[in-house]
Amino acid sequence: AIPLVVAISTAMSAQRGLLIRNRTAFEEARKITAMVFDKTGTLTEGAFGVTRVHVLREGTDEATLLSTAAALEQSSQHPIAQGITQEARQRRLSLPAITDFQSITGRGVSATVESKSVQVVSPGYLKERNVPIPAETTSSEAETIVYVLIDDQLTGYVALADKIRADSKEAVQRLQQAGIKVYMATGDNQKVADAVANELGLDGVYAEVLPDQKVAVVKDLQSKGQFVAMTGDGVNDAPALAQANVGIAVGSGTDVAAETADIILVNSKPTDITNLVEFGRATYRKMI
Ligand code: ADP
Ligand code: MG
Repeated sequence: AIPLVVAISTAMSAQRGLLIRNRTAFEEARKITAMVFDKTGTLTEGAFGVTRVHVLREGTDEATLLSTAAALEQSSQHPIAQGITQEARQRRLSLPAITDFQSITGRGVSATVESKSVQVVSPGYLKERNVPIPAETTSSEAETIVYVLIDDQLTGYVALADKIRADSKEAVQRLQQAGIKVYMATGDNQKVADAVANELGLDGVYAEVLPDQKVAVVKDLQSKGQFVAMTGDGVNDAPALAQANVGIAVGSGTDVAAETADIILVNSKPTDITNLVEFGRATYRKMI
């Protein structure tokens, strides 16, 4: 039989925007000492708008670059992909046909367009491939930048902007008041990561991380004696969610993340996690 307190807690959690997949997770939530948030879609809304399209090479133009990128992004579920396809639609661009679409987990997308190999990717991917990152994209404002490679040549980039969620600051502050260190791990660039970290007063930030590095972040904190909770939405986040002491999937995310997680954040609201921790602690006090 399910202990009454657990049954009550689970029912109350559902009302609070949480779906508990693993019963022990509720009990574990009160032990959390470090909370690692992913950025996109959790601390931010995950609704990107294109702010700039920039061509870096002769022989192409803004419209061609954007329509090429959008042709690939039509097949991706990532919030960045939605921002790019929406911009192409608004500009009424016709998109070229693509073949061999592939999603490069946590890095971007790849396909063949008019017999050319095209990738739309993160700064982390460029670093992996030893492609120099144009200085103008690291020294400028805090913008999310995805790079367009055509036949392995850096041809241009698209800059996008997202918004911090209205309740992120409150969530972070209340976790910190409960003695929890709050971190962010993101595949996005350092500028954007730092801007979000400053705005929210985070205890630490990991930027330009690739999927296996998210696991390393969790392990590193665990090796320092922390009891770690991690949020994530993508397929690429699943290994880190599995490694965390408490894995939390964002409701708007992918099925793979949800299947790996202990808890699902139904409304993607960071304060629901804060409530869980505070509520878990209060419930535990009642039991003893
Ligand atoms: P986050 O950690 O912020 O949630 P992800 O791990 O989902 O971000 O993605 C990491 C990075 O990979 C993104 O910031 C972006 O640069 C790149 N990326 C992922 N998916 C796509 C896509 N469909 N198109 C272009 N870039 C992408
Ligand atoms: Mg993500």
